[in-house]
Amino acid sequence: MKSSRLLSILLALLLLTGCTRPAPSADAKVSASASADESPNETILFAMDTVMKLTVYGDESLLTAAEARITELENKLSVTDENSEIYAVNHNGSGSLSEDTADLLGKALELCHRTRGALDLSIYPVVRAWGFTTGEYRVPGDDELSKLLIHVDYTKIAFDEKAGQVSLEPDMEIDLGSVAKGYTGDQLVSLFRQAGVTSALVNLGGNIQALGGKPDGSPWRIAVQNPLGDGYIGVLDVVDQAVITSGGYERYFEEDGQTYWHIIDPATGAPARSGLISVTVVGDSGLLCDGLSTALFVKGYEDAVDFWREAGGFEMVLVLEDGQIALTEGLEGQFSPADPSAEEVLVIRHD
Ligand code: AMP
Ligand code: MG
Repeated sequence: MKSSRLLSILLALLLLTGCTRPAPSADAKVSASASADESPNETILFAMDTVMKLTVYGDESLLTAAEARITELENKLSVTDENSEIYAVNHNGSGSLSEDTADLLGKALELCHRTRGALDLSIYPVVRAWGFTTGEYRVPGDDELSKLLIHVDYTKIAFDEKAGQVSLEPDMEIDLGSVAKGYTGDQLVSLFRQAGVTSALVNLGGNIQALGGKPDGSPWRIAVQNPLGDGYIGVLDVVDQAVITSGGYERYFEEDGQTYWHIIDPATGAPARSGLISVTVVGDSGLLCDGLSTALFVKGYEDAVDFWREAGGFEMVLVLEDGQIALTEGLEGQFSPADPSAEEVLVIRHD
């Protein structure tokens, strides 16, 4: 259903101005400092196929600079824009990359390795076959998927980071859609930080990155969307962190009573049905959180928990298909459930 895409964009717009924007803190006290008295500069824009909202306590010109940076990155990273670097690599089988694209590709490939291919940047031919790129949704047959999966293998992406050169095997194509927004969040926060900003919030279609806390020193309050219905499941208090969610509800279509979403299990070529319905990853790096939210959605509850215990360096909120909410122990003091009387939130511990 093409309309589901349009609907989700409209919803995103509503939500950005409504409930998934950082939940307003009821008791936000404004300190005596000059910046705390200032109202932020804000802008809403549509880029990277999503609605974005930038909030910065700083000069308005920073928003213009941020928008230019988003456009610059989108122009390089887009898989559909015929002038992008990724498009050129996909169509020529090789190419030289700008510093940005090489930086992102190098780091994202590392995440493919670390997640043992749950994140696989070469998934693109499969994503396209399901119509998630164009909105012309369809269910590919098993034969078609088997043929496409032959070319899905991130270990065959030959990348010389120093030279900025990448080459692919025949019929391979790459897609940075699972990590591009997280990387963009990192870039915007660093742009603001370099300009001396100490308080900003970047919301790239629900992928959130905070610079500092609010001007009064209190944390930003970030609502985590309910993947099974309206509203949100809880609020995270966040300072200087990224909060990035991958969810089955973000892009999907329905056919014959089945729901098919855009996160693909590279082992099967089908939408990942791991028992999870959303994965929110909280950490210092937007890129890491973005890559892991996609990969852990594919891995499922048990493997996600094992990965967290072994790798560390991030926290997560998992929602299972039956509505159970589970969070890692580092978030215990940071997460307030929207409905405290609802089913207990499970805390995942290290032991
Ligand atoms: P995200 O919303 O960050 O979880 O990214 C989902 C997007 O990444 C999809 O729309 C696809 O373009 C792409 N994608 C889907 N499955 C995978 C996967 N297993 N590995 C890498 N990219 C994927
Ligand atoms: Mg992601």
